[in-house]
Amino acid sequence: MPVSSFNKVAVNLSALHHNYHLLKRRIGDNAKLLAMVKADAYGHGMIRVARELSKAGCESFGVAELCEAISLRQAGIRGEIFVFIGFSLADTACFFDYNLTPVIFDFESARALSSEAVTRNQEMRVHVKVDCGMTRLGIYPEEFGRFSTELLRLPGIVLSGVASHFPRADEVCSDSTMEQFGRFKRTIPDVLKKAKIVRHTANSGAILNFPETCCEMARAGISLYGYYPDGVVGKIAEKREQLQPVMTFSSQVLQVKIVPAGVGVSYGHSFVTTEPTRLAVLPVGYEDGLSRSLSNKAEVLVCGKRARIRGRICMNLCMVDITHIESVAVGDEVVFLGRQGKDCISSDEIAGWMGSISYEVLCLFGNNNERKYIE
Ligand SMILES: *Cc1c(COP(=O)(O)O)cnc(C)c1O
Repeated sequence: MPVSSFNKVAVNLSALHHNYHLLKRRIGDNAKLLAMVKADAYGHGMIRVARELSKAGCESFGVAELCEAISLRQAGIRGEIFVFIGFSLADTACFFDYNLTPVIFDFESARALSSEAVTRNQEMRVHVKVDCGMTRLGIYPEEFGRFSTELLRLPGIVLSGVASHFPRADEVCSDSTMEQFGRFKRTIPDVLKKAKIVRHTANSGAILNFPETCCEMARAGISLYGYYPDGVVGKIAEKREQLQPVMTFSSQVLQVKIVPAGVGVSYGHSFVTTEPTRLAVLPVGYEDGLSRSLSNKAEVLVCGKRARIRGRICMNLCMVDITHIESVAVGDEVVFLGRQGKDCISSDEIAGWMGSISYEVLCLFGNNNERKYIE
């Protein structure tokens, strides 16, 4: 029998379904929902998540790199799979072999796809990325006219979509989002709109805060996994049905020890006890995605109560203060992310301690631990 780790990430598939259907309702019937499953579905497991979402009716998936898209196809995922951050020209043939959709932002990629299309006597549908204010990947709106004209001249290439990305749609009051949306809409001439081009620029923030920007397709990432892109602010502001967090992360107590006052804990003795203290040693460290920056900051749940991490987080171990919690025993469950008893620690709360965002916490826990799926 395979031996499993003390540490477990549990992925609640019914919460994933709930979020998918909630987002579908927000987007409306006219727009498609593309599921962003990059970064191993933000730590939730790309293939399993894509399978579940396919069952729920999802027909479009987005990843960063070509290799991720190939893995999805090889796992039998159907529908459109978008590669968002480009590809090496040497790998151009893969888009045909695996029926993938490139999102392009330079002419060299277009030319390579065109010559492969001609060789195969096939067509390749491409989406063009326009930078309307994110200042990341994409051609500028001013360049779009020339770019698309040249693209349409390339044999075998079909311009089937235009994409952009919002830098501030998570902020309900960001004026720049609608300004940028205006720029995006003006970029695409009416002839292309009539040609049934798919426009997509909305991320989770836009779906939740600016639903009028969803166009023909919206790309949901963090919201599928149950978090608001603006963290607790968005969660509190939610007046309708709430998203449900999909991931939990738990472990167990390895050892309980009692130390007198004046004793240093862990590397560097960054914490020194001021009174007799009971500590629980836990088999979770930065190797398991518990960032070292959480040393002396993060809290965990033991016996339904909060316990603070004391001293530096090591590679595979950390210590928490359980002085105030009665009867903690070796083997007791410890929750790092999720609910235990009446209390709950969210990815947003951990992100707050880390000076980061829920996205990073989910990737860290999810991509560094065994996952178990709960129907
Ligand atoms: C990651 C990503 C998204 C999803 O963003 P969320 O804030 O997680 O919804 C959408 N579009 C692109 C291009 C992305 O890279």
